[in-house]
Amino acid sequence: MRLLDQDGLLCDAVEDLGREHLVPQQALMEYWPWARLRAEQEEQQLYAEIRRLPPDDYAKVRELLASDPVAQQGVLWEKWDGLWGRFGFFEPVASWPWCNAAGWCFPCPACAWPMRAQPAGQGVFAVACDAHLLEGVQYTYRPVRGSSGPPVLEGGGASAGRVEGFPAAGDYFAVSRTMWRYMTLPGRMEFAIRDALTGIAGLDVLMYPGSDRYDLRITAAEPLVAKEWRVDAKAWRSFGALADALLERPVLAAPVPLTIVVPHRQRSDLPLLQARLAGRRDLEVMTDKDFVAEVLRWCRGEW
Ligand SMILES: [Zn+2]
Repeated sequence: MRLLDQDGLLCDAVEDLGREHLVPQQALMEYWPWARLRAEQEEQQLYAEIRRLPPDDYAKVRELLASDPVAQQGVLWEKWDGLWGRFGFFEPVASWPWCNAAGWCFPCPACAWPMRAQPAGQGVFAVACDAHLLEGVQYTYRPVRGSSGPPVLEGGGASAGRVEGFPAAGDYFAVSRTMWRYMTLPGRMEFAIRDALTGIAGLDVLMYPGSDRYDLRITAAEPLVAKEWRVDAKAWRSFGALADALLERPVLAAPVPLTIVVPHRQRSDLPLLQARLAGRRDLEVMTDKDFVAEVLRWCRGEW
């Protein structure tokens, strides 16, 4: 069986097996120290690096990492302005063979990051997003010999929108896999929540409030009944590992619990995460869709 993924991280299945067979976590850590440590520490390190920025620059960087995870170097240079080059967040897409489908690379319609392209026999490629495959973001690509037009993807599930490919050998840069997992995916969830709740009388939605250790603050006030939500989105692949990381955090003494928001596509595993965090009154966890529904219910006076 495969033990490590292409990033050198312990595959989810190995961790799950360890837990199912009651191998104590500490024993796994002893043999695989870099794997889990790397994921958690990398996330913390990334945040620490950009938290040193002034608040406006911090918000700009967070937004750009979510909105533009792939672009040509010139475009990125312009958008990032004086901040470009200060961080090693981007890598040349040309150096990534895993997303190269006969010379073309296709960004995911849901998260805009390069989709994985795997040879599926007879010159055909299976093209799918590692995160959004569960939502039906998967296609096939048949390169046409001698064709000069733009490449066309076929198929696609329910939510697979139109995709425009770009040359894999071009001067395109994309955020690293770690950045994508810990910044782009949760960032896009947070901006979608902000957009869904903006424009409601009495509801104040604020991204990156001050130096607080959460990303989104939503406050209900007159004419609504007062209430506050503090939100942190997480798009970890393994809820087991996410639970471990959250449980390692010191208990928060905040007046309201921190709401950990996870993707709706992972809802079937949510009870597992909720059970793991049952002892932590300072944390609650729900899907992005359920969170927006809860706030909207509050605004309608239904609680
Ligand atoms: Zn995606």
